[in-house]
Amino acid sequence: MAAAYVRPFYKIMRNIYLDHAATTQTDPRVLAAMLPYLKEQFGNADSRYALGRSAAAAVLSARDVIRLLIGGSGGNVYFTSCGSEANSWALKGVCAANFGKKHTIVLSAIEHPSLLRAAEDMAVFGYNTVLVYPDGQGIVTADAVRDALSDDVAFVGVMAANNETGIIQPASQIYEVCRSAGAFYFCDCVQAAGTLDLSSPLGDGMSFSAHKFYGPKGVGGLWLRRNTRIERLVSGGQQEGGMRGGTTFVAGVVGMAEALKIACNDMEAENARVGRLRDLFARRVLSSVRSRLVGSGRRLPSNADIAFSGCRGEQLVISLDMLNVSASTGSACSSGASKPSSVLLAMGMSEEEAASCVRFTFGRENMQRDAETAADRVISAARDLGAHML
Ligand code: PLP
Repeated sequence: MAAAYVRPFYKIMRNIYLDHAATTQTDPRVLAAMLPYLKEQFGNADSRYALGRSAAAAVLSARDVIRLLIGGSGGNVYFTSCGSEANSWALKGVCAANFGKKHTIVLSAIEHPSLLRAAEDMAVFGYNTVLVYPDGQGIVTADAVRDALSDDVAFVGVMAANNETGIIQPASQIYEVCRSAGAFYFCDCVQAAGTLDLSSPLGDGMSFSAHKFYGPKGVGGLWLRRNTRIERLVSGGQQEGGMRGGTTFVAGVVGMAEALKIACNDMEAENARVGRLRDLFARRVLSSVRSRLVGSGRRLPSNADIAFSGCRGEQLVISLDMLNVSASTGSACSSGASKPSSVLLAMGMSEEEAASCVRFTFGRENMQRDAETAADRVISAARDLGAHML
């Protein structure tokens, strides 16, 4: 007798990825641009023979493309392994180059840990850190930054757009304030690159990371205004102007340039399309579950950070994973216990509300059907978890 065919009791559901702020899938066009430099054109960009020279030419061209799209010709682009490295180098390198002259670091309380922890590391060298808090809507105002400035400030860091709320910060105004006070202003552009026009400098330094704009993981960069005083990061060869030794990841920087080119070419239309999906999703969720969008003001078009009434974000993320929707909470997991997001607490949220938030970030492969289906799955999961329904 033929074995009975057991029908799966579940329907196979396509995964809907709504965590583009965490990372993105490498675009096939980017991969195609990278592949030759992993295969037949594998040369070391520092070698003098033809294979090396063609790698060096590719690196040069990638640097030019990126500098045109991020920061502009008034500065230099240094390649790094990621956004965290660029952030940490900027803070420590600028402070170290001005060692003994100024002793205060000013950071917004909603910066990425790669800046907040780097500032903590500098305490042993006599630096103290002043945190500037956002208002209840998640905005770090230029006035709040001005209040924190003094002649002793070596470094100011306020990001272009926040990774959890997606709220766009008034970087140009903050830059003005810092410029008139003679303070170095660094703008973490990791979430903004590929979505906002960064072709003019938003600060004296800007960081970016390829995997956030459909490029590969393992490559990022730092744009620094020309003549910025900064200590070298890696001693070694003459790569990156002698500031960061180590054999260049040729395929990576070629991929990053290609990814940025694609993102900037399509920026306006793609922002509008993704924004429509986000709005459709958010409207549907907000009209069924008692919930609210976190923060207000200009936000990245991809981002819907939602506080749910009556259920925990962490549980919702787990339930959604089982329903094939990938989203995340902003909470940091340490020693097995997850704490509410420091970004949300800094905005004045209660611990309970902060623990109820889930970040959904839309992107290139999402379609209208994804936004609708994901919203339905969120509503159903939230209901099952006891969230307050409308
Ligand atoms: N800065 C911001 C605002 C980020 O969102 C991230 C990553 O999520 C980083 C820096 C770090 O980037 P990377 O993952 O490339 O180290």
